[in-house]
Amino acid sequence: MTMNILGYATHSPTDNLAPYHFERREPRADDVVIEILYCGVCHSDLHQAHNDWHNSNYPLVPGHEIVGRVTEVGAAVTRFKVGDLAAVGCMVDSCQHCEPCEHGEEQYCVEFPTLTYNSVNRHDQMPTYGGYSEKIVVTEKFTLKVPENLELAGTAPLLCAGITTWSPLRHWKVGKGSRVAVVGLGGLGHMALKLAKALGAEVTLFTRSEGKEADARRLGADNIVLSSDETQMAAVQGHFDFILDTVPYIHDLNQYIPTLAISGTLVLVGYLGPLEPMLNTAPMVLGRKSIAGSLIGGIAETQELLDFCAEHNITSDVEVIKIQEINTAYQRMLKSDVKYRFVIDMKSLKA
Ligand code: NAP
Ligand code: ZN
Repeated sequence: MTMNILGYATHSPTDNLAPYHFERREPRADDVVIEILYCGVCHSDLHQAHNDWHNSNYPLVPGHEIVGRVTEVGAAVTRFKVGDLAAVGCMVDSCQHCEPCEHGEEQYCVEFPTLTYNSVNRHDQMPTYGGYSEKIVVTEKFTLKVPENLELAGTAPLLCAGITTWSPLRHWKVGKGSRVAVVGLGGLGHMALKLAKALGAEVTLFTRSEGKEADARRLGADNIVLSSDETQMAAVQGHFDFILDTVPYIHDLNQYIPTLAISGTLVLVGYLGPLEPMLNTAPMVLGRKSIAGSLIGGIAETQELLDFCAEHNITSDVEVIKIQEINTAYQRMLKSDVKYRFVIDMKSLKA
């Protein structure tokens, strides 16, 4: 048994997104059905729509920053009831028995987690489709509780942009006294500024764009460094304990490594693939500096983030759009013309 769902899909790397009908499973005993109210627009949606990672399956319904209301629950569901707010991020399932899964790091499941879209359900082999749609059916284990005090549209991006920046901040123990830099002020970057600030760090933004200074300060940056300005770069040599690099495309890391302090770490979350130009190991060897990567965050850690945001009243700065505006939003995202996350008001799907 399946239910027919309306969403927006793309059928090839060069097509626009357009209305598309598809099937989702009827809820199993452990499932909740969520009517989607808002869905954030992540640069990963654009990468996958365009097949940048060479693994896209079409038709592809993107969207992994989902908030909505529970409309139905399976017989074995205990944590949700009809009418509750609920959220879903980048994953909808994992093996549940490997070491990472047992340690709450389902994103590193050795069998690979089932992703919210462009993946295959591990129980019934149905393709997964994302949040640019009316409803989603998800096991309660991968469904998050949404604190009631948070503004809903601004909460959606916490499910990916938020957790992807929160998880490395926590793993590398950023807190009071930490000197943190964030590379790139987009969806992930603006969440990183807010979260690092709320954790008590001194926060700097590296940006290639002039004119972001006032916004960056409002979002939590203490300093702004224009990465194309050699004098500004020279002033921060050896300064940072932790750099979070959110840039989505290939770029030169060699200019950032010397800005790390001894034993500092630069964590890549944006770009996926071989780097160019090659890395110069000298500043790493001479200062025990590391380069690392990080993928989203686990389910318990995502709940921790939502609760932290509720306590500190943190949400994403969003521009709410109608689903009919999604193709223009993608064009604007390619030009870094986003302040600082597009979120789709899913009511527009019924228009
Ligand atoms: P976004 O909103 O488009 O922001 C990216 C920012 O990077 C831009 O605002 C711009 O900031 C800078 N930038 C863009 N193109 C650049 C280029 N060619 N060279 C240098 N800087 C550039 O993107 P996002 O949604 O934050 O996503 C960022 C990346 O993270 C994407 O690649 C996405 O796929 C990835 N991601 C990874 C994970 C994970 O788990 N690791 C999760 C979610 C997303 P300035 O103008 O300030 O320089
Ligand atoms: Zn994302």
